[in-house]
Amino acid sequence: MSKVLIIGAGGVGRVVVFKCAQHPEVFSEILLASRTKSKCDVIAEDAKKATGHKHIATAAVDAENVPELTALIRSFGPELVIHVALPYQDLTIMEACLAAGVHYMDTANYEPKDEAKFEYKWQWAYHDRFKEKGLLALLGCGFDPGATSVFTAYAAKHHFDEIHYLDIVDCNAGDHGKAFATNFNPEINIREITQKGKYYEDGEWLEIDPHSVMKPLTYPGIGPKKSYLIFHEELESLVRNFPSLKRARFWMTFGDEYLTHLRVIQNIGMSRIDPVMYKGVEVIPLEFLKYVLPDPGELGENYTGQTSIGCRIRGTKDGKEKTYYVWNNCSHQAAYDETGTQGVSYTTGVPAMIGAMMVLTGQWQGKGVFNVEQFNPDPFMDKMNQYGLPWHEEVNGDLEFEK
Ligand code: NDP
Repeated sequence: MSKVLIIGAGGVGRVVVFKCAQHPEVFSEILLASRTKSKCDVIAEDAKKATGHKHIATAAVDAENVPELTALIRSFGPELVIHVALPYQDLTIMEACLAAGVHYMDTANYEPKDEAKFEYKWQWAYHDRFKEKGLLALLGCGFDPGATSVFTAYAAKHHFDEIHYLDIVDCNAGDHGKAFATNFNPEINIREITQKGKYYEDGEWLEIDPHSVMKPLTYPGIGPKKSYLIFHEELESLVRNFPSLKRARFWMTFGDEYLTHLRVIQNIGMSRIDPVMYKGVEVIPLEFLKYVLPDPGELGENYTGQTSIGCRIRGTKDGKEKTYYVWNNCSHQAAYDETGTQGVSYTTGVPAMIGAMMVLTGQWQGKGVFNVEQFNPDPFMDKMNQYGLPWHEEVNGDLEFEK
């Protein structure tokens, strides 16, 4: 029985609250805090109604204000803070957890507001401070990073002596009926996918122009989809934690229409993250764009189709070459029926709840800063099957990738 503080009342926060509330035997008291308390209140009421959990409280907090957040943590006294606000707040929340003496976890690595560059270096630098305090900071526990990292650890543990080639494949074959919308925070999402692509090969990071490498890949239960090589943050920790990897890449599907909108947004300057003066007021075009795009948390109602995210791995076992594909498919409609939000928030929020459960039940323990693939994947994989993200595997099938 533990108290948790969940920070962030967006689509992902909603799923984390719902899923934690389904397990009062672990999450006995929940406090949901975000900048806008009214958003927390709606989620808390809906989750109480849906699950019968009696102890879900709410609070307003600016997670970039360390003293304010530290005071909130101290007054509630949780064992763990689950951070599902924005990556800009990673470091201030880690600071507050250190000050208040509680464990920390998140789903996305830190990125400075003025530079679209996400890297683990800022958060890994906290390792010694968390270690000295005997605290755990668990990084990247959504789906990708998160479940994909656990999939890789599971493959390495059970299927291979050495893993050599890793391709993470992320397909959203959903249709929300909007001309253009992002599936999670538009600002964070557009910053991520307009960056240069990057992958790891033979000890080096190789950069490519955005969306310049495309491959049609066939996703289970969905069929072929144009998939583009992009950089994704788990590649950085996976090549560090699995040094046998010769190559690691990440592929994401985008529709032609989506890419056309994205190109226009970039060409007309709406993806800029530097301030411009508009009628005497400083405006950051990308921040403004977020306000006119559909709210990802509200895409759910008429969202059809499914996501399919997995890892395609080639390596050796008992001296022989072997391939392995492990994946989860998630229906947007089923996610909406259960939690009132769409599949991308669902596939992020469920692993966050499971990661929190691993920490609070002592199945994942550590002092310092860790990525999820550093822990035993087995209990996490079991819980994925039980709590809404069942996975499937194929051994020695065609990965659609050469060596
Ligand atoms: P939303 O934009 O829907 O929600 C973010 C929430 O954070 C909002 O409630 C917002 O509050 C709150 N917030 C923002 N700034 C602050 C602050 N300074 N203090 C307190 N609260 C703040 O985002 P999503 O729910 O779509 O995504 C949440 C996180 O999940 C992101 O970090 C995203 O990168 C990550 N993610 C990870 C994935 C994975 O698989 N690993 C996949 C998808 C997302 P307010 O409403 O007041 O602005």
